[in-house]
Amino acid sequence: MKKIFIALIMIMLLSGAAFADGNDKENRAYFPAVIMYHDIRTEPLNYFDVTVQDFCSQLDWLKANDYETLTLEEFVAYMRNGEEFPEKSVLITFDDGYNGIYNYAFPELSKRSMKAVFFITAGVIDKVDGTYPHVTVKELQEIAGNKNFSIGSHTMSHPNLVKLSSEDRIHELAESKRILKEITGREILAIAYPEGNYDKNVIDSVKEAGYEIAFAVQDRGLCGEKARYTIPRIYVGMVLAENDNKLFKEYVMNYKAMPAEAFTERWQPMKQERNE
Ligand SMILES: [Zn+2]
Repeated sequence: MKKIFIALIMIMLLSGAAFADGNDKENRAYFPAVIMYHDIRTEPLNYFDVTVQDFCSQLDWLKANDYETLTLEEFVAYMRNGEEFPEKSVLITFDDGYNGIYNYAFPELSKRSMKAVFFITAGVIDKVDGTYPHVTVKELQEIAGNKNFSIGSHTMSHPNLVKLSSEDRIHELAESKRILKEITGREILAIAYPEGNYDKNVIDSVKEAGYEIAFAVQDRGLCGEKARYTIPRIYVGMVLAENDNKLFKEYVMNYKAMPAEAFTERWQPMKQERNE
């Protein structure tokens, strides 16, 4: 009887070994705060924009409050090893690959020796999307040449991955990974879902394309092994910067405890006052 009991314990320990202790905790309880930006601009045009001034004061607040920024490689290493993340660590991420990341985020983060991850839409590098120019190949190479910065994929064309055929989905995921690796010479470990859209089929395709982790926006309460492909992020934008970054600070300090509804998209063009 005792032997059976020991054998059962061994099986439990071994089955948990591939994805160790810390990850069995509920979703956000395990992760450090993951912050999501889009563009940094002098004049915001969309609620997902953050002004250069607000961005700098957010970075200064993180630094003054002893938050340690991580690279994607460090983030993945903690997960691989099943280690606890440092208590006051954060992962700063940027989606889409607008040129504000090169003009403002890259230099302001560098000045402060802070780290970040840039999720790039590979099909629009060097292109202009309306009033949103994307980074050029040369700019991306300069960013990727600095080991404090990591590059992730944001697909080829920013589609809703849930609505694609599995063939098209794999193309979006695998081709962007290949192109970004070719341009940057870096391993592409992670993907951020365009507009946070994912389902089980998307997660299966992400695994098939060889990504280790994936970032979402919403928190749908997935735990353990599944949570590594659905990591919720704080959607920073104009609203979080109001009143001396009141909500920004609240989200970062309470990332683990915020209600799931707090993790939501804030994509909405701002009304241009001169047109009203
Ligand atoms: Zn996006």
